[in-house]
Amino acid sequence: MRYPGFARDIVTLGLVREVTVQAGQVAIVLALPTDKRDVIATLDAEIEGAVRSLPGVAKVEIRRAGEQARVGGSSRAAPLPGVRHILAVASGKGGVGKSTVAVNLALALRARGLRIGLLDADIHGPSVPLMAGVPEARPRMVEEKKIVPIERYGIALVSMGFFLDDRSPVIWRGPMVMSIVRQFLKDVVWGELDILVVDLPPGTGDAQLTLLQEVAVAGGVIVTTPQDVALQDVRRGITMFDTVQTPVIGIVENMSGYVCPKCGTEEAIFGTDGGQRESAALNVQLLGKIPLVGDLRASMDLGAPLVASAPDHPISQTFAAIAELVVAGLEHQ
Ligand code: ADP
Repeated sequence: MRYPGFARDIVTLGLVREVTVQAGQVAIVLALPTDKRDVIATLDAEIEGAVRSLPGVAKVEIRRAGEQARVGGSSRAAPLPGVRHILAVASGKGGVGKSTVAVNLALALRARGLRIGLLDADIHGPSVPLMAGVPEARPRMVEEKKIVPIERYGIALVSMGFFLDDRSPVIWRGPMVMSIVRQFLKDVVWGELDILVVDLPPGTGDAQLTLLQEVAVAGGVIVTTPQDVALQDVRRGITMFDTVQTPVIGIVENMSGYVCPKCGTEEAIFGTDGGQRESAALNVQLLGKIPLVGDLRASMDLGAPLVASAPDHPISQTFAAIAELVVAGLEHQ
């Protein structure tokens, strides 16, 4: 039986804590990662229906475990040694600027004097090597196949792109994505880091969920564009983080308007203030709004992200403000 909104079932998610059968009476103890009544009611009804249809079952009793569950079991995944916080950057779909935000946010956090790592887990289309200006980099391997991150702009970088010969997008299936990312996390010599920023694969489905579950993520940032369809994805993103009880630190609204370089007027190509409305409605902080700016795209294509190459640029200042809020959000966990 699937957990609402996800393809995985409640047993593999570790939500069924106990099942006892006694003279046709079945008692099930569930630990749910949510207190949303509609989710609980749907699950209860489906479980009861499924169990009642089994031969010999006269009565079904469903109880809650004492504590709210974190998907995957009661214990949080083990943090990485030497890494204080893992921050996941997610988006509902590709092309909204998730990697652009992850890279510039990592640099803005670095500019605050923090020790930062960046893991490009977007293995469908790893764009971080290009954006960081190290498209041809190949990390060193040390003892027992450990990967040494590439140092760039003061950040420790690891990307699937470093391990692909051909830069065309790779289509990996969910479980494969997971085993590769898991290996990455385990086999990289990150050293001492204050924050490891993980650029998640786009989407808010099972692959991303498993990743969050396995790597003890301290907080999530969701990148969105302001139009309504993207905002539905934000809701899905929040549900994803809720499911693994990872706090959403906030939303970054990207491509929030277009400032004409000639006349300076701003046009709301993708609608106005969608991120703002949605963050208020969902009670999640809007960390910042980044307009569509040619300089930003050009800087990413050149491998010289604005935050590193032009720290005084208004976009870099916006990222500095976002970084401040992210640090505050992580410290509050
Ligand atoms: P995602 O990681 O969500 O797939 P990317 O970060 O790769 O998206 O961004 C997609 C493209 O859009 C890139 O070429 C990037 O330079 C560009 N881009 C992202 N955000 C902006 C922005 N605010 N202004 C201009 N170009 C942007």
